[in-house]
Amino acid sequence: MSVSIVNALRGPFRLEGFVGVQEQIVKGVMRGRDILAVLPPGGGMSLCYELPAYLLPGTCLVVGRLCWRTRERLARAGNRGIRAGVLDDLRGSDEKQRVERALRSGTCDLVYVEPERFGDPGFLNLLQNSHLCFIAVKAAHRISTWGHDFQSGYRSLSHVREALPDTPLAAFTGPATGRVRRDVIDRLGLHSPVTASPSLNRKQRHYAVVPKQNLGAQVLTLLAERHNQPGLVYRATRQRVEDTAAYLVRHGIPALPCHAGLDADMLCRNRDLFEAGEVDVMVATTGMDPGTARPDIRYVLHGELPPSLEAYYRDTAHAGLDGRRADCVLFYSDRDVSRARHAISRTRGEHHWRVAHTKFEQVVAYCTRRECRRRRLLEYFGERFRVRHCKACDVCRGDIGHSPRSTAVLSGHIPATGPGACQSKRTDGKGASARSSTPRVLAMQTP
Ligand SMILES: [Zn+2]
Repeated sequence: MSVSIVNALRGPFRLEGFVGVQEQIVKGVMRGRDILAVLPPGGGMSLCYELPAYLLPGTCLVVGRLCWRTRERLARAGNRGIRAGVLDDLRGSDEKQRVERALRSGTCDLVYVEPERFGDPGFLNLLQNSHLCFIAVKAAHRISTWGHDFQSGYRSLSHVREALPDTPLAAFTGPATGRVRRDVIDRLGLHSPVTASPSLNRKQRHYAVVPKQNLGAQVLTLLAERHNQPGLVYRATRQRVEDTAAYLVRHGIPALPCHAGLDADMLCRNRDLFEAGEVDVMVATTGMDPGTARPDIRYVLHGELPPSLEAYYRDTAHAGLDGRRADCVLFYSDRDVSRARHAISRTRGEHHWRVAHTKFEQVVAYCTRRECRRRRLLEYFGERFRVRHCKACDVCRGDIGHSPRSTAVLSGHIPATGPGACQSKRTDGKGASARSSTPRVLAMQTP
């Protein structure tokens, strides 16, 4: 590893070394290669573009959705001595002109933009007259209609290679199938990219599918055994998220909602409270980024089937980042399957319908086949799993079809507590404190 990379790592980034495939990606970017990096949440993506942007002359353009975390990233970059800016229509004209001047002169290390901007010929002209060292495209799988998360705005990036043939492109995707990866390469015009695709297997995650009967009671039972442990509960709709958070609070479990219908300040505050450990349960809509960097999430529950295995993997990727055991439980019911199939049948456009239908049926197969959950997930993403029994899923443990009222599928024993036990169990210091603050906290965030 070069001295400059080591010095940057230990200096402004305050790290002793790279994790996983970060070194491969950073070296590829530094050599001016195109990159296709398939990284799960928590895979350390930002370092892969921030560090080269810090070292290379010129500006790194970071393409992705601007959100509440962009402000946080700007502040963090500033603390590291990285000159960063945002180009969006919400900024005042003075700020916009300042960033555009910095782009032309290459005096800004990082500039964040949304993908739609590439549909503007004036913006492409600005880039052609700028000093770019490379372009980093986040969530690049959104450019593919074969993916689970296609966004039409990303199609504007199809022209970037033509407009900037000599500027290296680094595409970062979440876990994606081979078909989506090939589509990303084609649509972005990546030239012989360095491909970094770490194993998606995380041994600490235990998987189970549980028949859904009385979801509220089932969730309470699971949480009762995990009191004061942080976790995520996913629901299919905003209303169910609100209802579940309120239900848990009524049963003495501080919980906060997280969905796109909340205003930005409330969303930010709920995330901050969860991040700070003030509240241990976050209830979110499936696919919603809970925005947490907590490494100690011990369980991820899904009240309904997610629309795809990509979405499921992405949600569960927050579990057990500290390497300790975390349980991923999906509640299944035939009724939910029927409802979801009906909703998918109304998808507009044959191609979009076919993709949505196929991806959902793969989720149904994941739930209903007596086959190692881990193997099915990994093989879906093209990763071979050679172990016959993973010993950490309900199928391999022989617990498939176990009584859903019991958490024996997860912990190997029948719980002594029932659904109503949560309140009486929270008698330790932290639980008592959290409970006493609940009415105040939730009074602020419930509609
Ligand atoms: Zn297994």
